[in-house]
Amino acid sequence: MSSGSLALTLSNGAGAAKEARVAVRTWERRDAARVGMKWGGAVAALGVVMIPIPLIHFFSPIVLLIAPLAGFLIFRLYNGGVDMQGQGACPSCENPLELSGNADRWPVQMICPSCKRSVTVAPT
Ligand SMILES: [Zn+2]
Repeated sequence: MSSGSLALTLSNGAGAAKEARVAVRTWERRDAARVGMKWGGAVAALGVVMIPIPLIHFFSPIVLLIAPLAGFLIFRLYNGGVDMQGQGACPSCENPLELSGNADRWPVQMICPSCKRSVTVAPT
């Protein structure tokens, strides 16, 4: 997982804009594969645990077949993903705005918790 920082522009669509800098972590292929294998292994373990349980054991082969697919889907979800963490100021009301979460696609639309106005977050 590579870390860095990113300069962002927060705008409210009415001409006001603020600058912010956030810490970003990018999910690399190896880290995404590790999370995917963890989830695939967990689903496979569930399939194995189901084997001795009456009636439920009929679904065990299906769960065991789905395990690699679940791992691959989790890998695809995480691979190349960007997590950001930081703070900025709302361009409308100047109150602090928490900038966190997943940012795979720019611009990110947020709602200011203080003034309930829409804030567009984009890299500078
Ligand atoms: Zn606001």
